[in-house]
Amino acid sequence: MRKKWKKIYRNNKFLLNKIFQYNKWLFFVRLCYAVLTSFASLINVLLPKFLLEAMFEGELKRVVMVLGIYFVIIVCIKVTGIFYENYNRASTEKMYVEIINEFLHKGIGLDLSFFDKSESFSKYNRGFGNCCNVIEKCNNTILSVITASIQIVMIGSVLLWANVYVFVTILIFIAVNITINNVLKRIDYDYNVKLSEKNKQVNYFYRLFYTPKFIRDIKVNVIDEFIFNKKQEVNEEILRISKGQMSDTKKYRILLGFLDSLEYVLAAFYFAYSVIKEFIAVADYFTSLNAYQQIKNAINNLLSSYTVFYNNSLFAEDYIDFMRSNENTTTNREGILLKASEIEKVEFENVTFSYPNADENALKNVSFVINRGDKIAVVGKNGAGKTTIIKLMLRLYDPQEGEIRINGISIQDYNTDSLRTSIKALLQDFAVYAFSLYDNLALGREISDEKMEMALREVDLYDKVSRLKGGLNTPITSQVTKGGVELSGGETQKLVLSRIFALDTPFFILDEPTSSLDPYAEYGLYHKLLQSSKSENTFIVISHRLTLTHKMSKIIVIDNGGIAESGTHEELMALDGIYAGMYRIQSEKYSAGSD
Ligand code: ADP
Repeated sequence: MRKKWKKIYRNNKFLLNKIFQYNKWLFFVRLCYAVLTSFASLINVLLPKFLLEAMFEGELKRVVMVLGIYFVIIVCIKVTGIFYENYNRASTEKMYVEIINEFLHKGIGLDLSFFDKSESFSKYNRGFGNCCNVIEKCNNTILSVITASIQIVMIGSVLLWANVYVFVTILIFIAVNITINNVLKRIDYDYNVKLSEKNKQVNYFYRLFYTPKFIRDIKVNVIDEFIFNKKQEVNEEILRISKGQMSDTKKYRILLGFLDSLEYVLAAFYFAYSVIKEFIAVADYFTSLNAYQQIKNAINNLLSSYTVFYNNSLFAEDYIDFMRSNENTTTNREGILLKASEIEKVEFENVTFSYPNADENALKNVSFVINRGDKIAVVGKNGAGKTTIIKLMLRLYDPQEGEIRINGISIQDYNTDSLRTSIKALLQDFAVYAFSLYDNLALGREISDEKMEMALREVDLYDKVSRLKGGLNTPITSQVTKGGVELSGGETQKLVLSRIFALDTPFFILDEPTSSLDPYAEYGLYHKLLQSSKSENTFIVISHRLTLTHKMSKIIVIDNGGIAESGTHEELMALDGIYAGMYRIQSEKYSAGSD
């Protein structure tokens, strides 16, 4: 129990601190306004009393004075409310942007291995969806506790002053009400847990119907009926749970409705009785009844705040755990700055690596050397470990054993950003963004028009781009920006490949760069890369197609996580091993296209 309290306290403290971190004044401004509105509710309780007293004594002047004061106070509160709303809205929106920015910055700084673990990734997703809500809920609950306490003290004193018996009676009514409410909440909570699980599944189905990739797949495979049926099963399950919830809680709801009305009637009767017996004045009748309603709400709020704090601390756990996670071991911001032109030698020495969620090693004891000017082809079957080599070279992961060095220095000693900009890699699951074609090519750098044109010509995309009304300023896809261009898979790949020419980088890696290209485009591209590339430029091409491997200075064959063969085309053909076998099959297939 103590542990539970500690956790609720710790999590909510973390959330409250976040508000102070982004805006020191917001909480206090909100608190002042909340206290002011509590004050307004006290005025509403007292107004009928003062009015009736004046009316009974026939003092019209006093009635005017009471209403005048009431009018001034309420207008002041309302005007303050307008200023408050303006401030609160602007500050809250700014705070939300900052909360989300901090979250996203944290995410991009974490190791890729964090996202490989499905549990961490789910935490990341849920934390992102919840972060603003849980912070706001914590803030609102604290405010509601403070204002409810103020209301209880203020209105309670008014009631005590009117009649102590009335006060005690009200407390008894409220206690019964709260007990039943708590039973109801416990039943509701269990059902809500089941419902949120099912709602998650329904959301998945919705995503299928608004994601173009899935819409295409559903149409092509004609599986709309099949998916609708699956969704229907979940919908029916939700209906069943909701019905169960309604029927299980029915008796408590009826009892509560009955008690609520009875409470009110009894309270009204008790106050009327008190007036008749002259325990309280007639003017105090409405004050007492009004105070009863308000104090009941305030005590209810105060008592339910524990459940809100508890639930909020559960919901907030994903966000808090994520913000506290410290998995950024593969980022070095202080290390040596690496320049692409200075890379002389890249060495892998006895590198062994397994992914965090995998049982087997993806690479086993891999050693090789790449010297400046090498043109290397890494070949092998799917899943052999080719891409993993590149991910390690870019320090997206660290190997469990062995070392990767550049110019004799471990890559862990280099500034990671400089490492990744020096070794320009185009990965097979590349991404293009819904920004302009220029931005997609230049990636935030300044590139001259001439260079852009040359880069697009190299990949045979210039004609297409020059036919577009907006030219290079045309955004990719019209899903985000109107007038955007939709590129085919092959055209998108060509655009990404043109970065190699536009960024003029002396060390680059292409991972399956031609998977969406036709054999002619693929052949032409390799040819250009080899021709245009200066002799001191280094490049590594990963491919399971062997179109131009015979022109590379070295071929590394990866099989089952290790280096199976390595050498020139001629050496490997003479060896008559894996490479020779692959080459022979492919030359038969593409005999018409190869030179
Ligand atoms: P290749 O590029 O040769 O097709 P990869 O290097 O991508 O192969 O993958 C090597 C092995 O590592 C495969 O068995 C693959 O399933 C596994 N693997 C790749 N990425 C991950 C990952 N993020 N988590 C777990 N296993 C992975």
